[in-house]
Amino acid sequence: MAAPRRPKLAVWKFASCDGCQLSLLDCEDELLAVAGAVEIAYFLEATRAEVAGPYDLSLVEGSITTAHDAERIQKVRRRSRRLVTIGACATAGGIQALRNFKDVAEFTSVVYARPDYIETLRTSTPISSHVRVDFELHGCPINKYQLLEVISAFLHERRPNVPAHSVCVECKLKGNVCVMVAHGTPCLGPVTHAGCGALCPSYDRGCYGCFGPMETPDTIALSAWLARLGLPERDVQRIFRTFNTWAPEFRAESERHGN
Ligand code: SF4
Ligand code: SF4
Repeated sequence: MAAPRRPKLAVWKFASCDGCQLSLLDCEDELLAVAGAVEIAYFLEATRAEVAGPYDLSLVEGSITTAHDAERIQKVRRRSRRLVTIGACATAGGIQALRNFKDVAEFTSVVYARPDYIETLRTSTPISSHVRVDFELHGCPINKYQLLEVISAFLHERRPNVPAHSVCVECKLKGNVCVMVAHGTPCLGPVTHAGCGALCPSYDRGCYGCFGPMETPDTIALSAWLARLGLPERDVQRIFRTFNTWAPEFRAESERHGN
C-alpha cells in the first residue's frame, strides 16, 4: 500500500535577516520529527531542491519593500492553502519600517555609492497589508517552540496555542524582581506580546519589545510611567520605534511623542 501523502511545507523569504527561518533549523532535536511529518517542499535556506506547489502550509519571513516582492507574495498566497507569517519583519514591517517615517530616497543617497541602482518602495510593510494571512507568529526572532506548535496545530487543523498575554506574565511566573519598580529601568514588558520567556528582565534589563504589541496594550499608561521615571519625550518615542515600529499600537504611541 502506498504511504499517505505528507503535507507540503514551504518557507519563503522576503526582506529580512533570515533569523526566523534559522529558528526552524535550530530545532535540532525536533527537526527529524518535523521532516517525518511534512514534506519540506521549498526551503532555500536548507536545500536547493524544490518540489512544485501548491503547498499545504507556507511560512513567510520578511516584509515587502520592493515592487517585485509585492507581486511575488501574491503568487505565494495563490499557491498556499494556509499562510503563516513569522517574525517582526513579516508581521509588522521589521526594523526596516523605520524608513516609513522618513524619506527613503534620502537614506539610499547616504547608504549606497550608486543609489540610482536601488529599486525600492517608499515603505516596508507587513505581509498582511498585501494578502490574507491565516496566523501571525510574533518575535525577533520567533520562539522555536512556538513555531513547532504552529506547525503542529496547522497539521491537525486546530488553532495554535500561543498565549496573547504580556511579557509581564512570563516575568512574574519566573519570579523575577521587576526592573522597572525596583531600579527604575524602562521596560516594554507590560505592552509586549509574550514568547521570549521574559529573557531581558531575567538578566536585569528592560524588555525591548521584540515580540510586538500584546492584545489591547495600554501604551498610554506605560508612557506615563516612563515619563515619571524621567525618560525624555524623545526617548519615549524611540523605545516604541524598534523591531515592531510599524505595528499599529507601537506606531501610534511613538507618534504621540513626536514625528
Ligand atoms: S524578525 Fe528579526 S530575526 Fe526575524 S527575520 Fe526579521 S530581523 Fe531577522
Ligand atoms: S521587569 Fe518588565 S516585564 Fe518584568 S514585571 Fe517588570 S515591567 Fe513587567
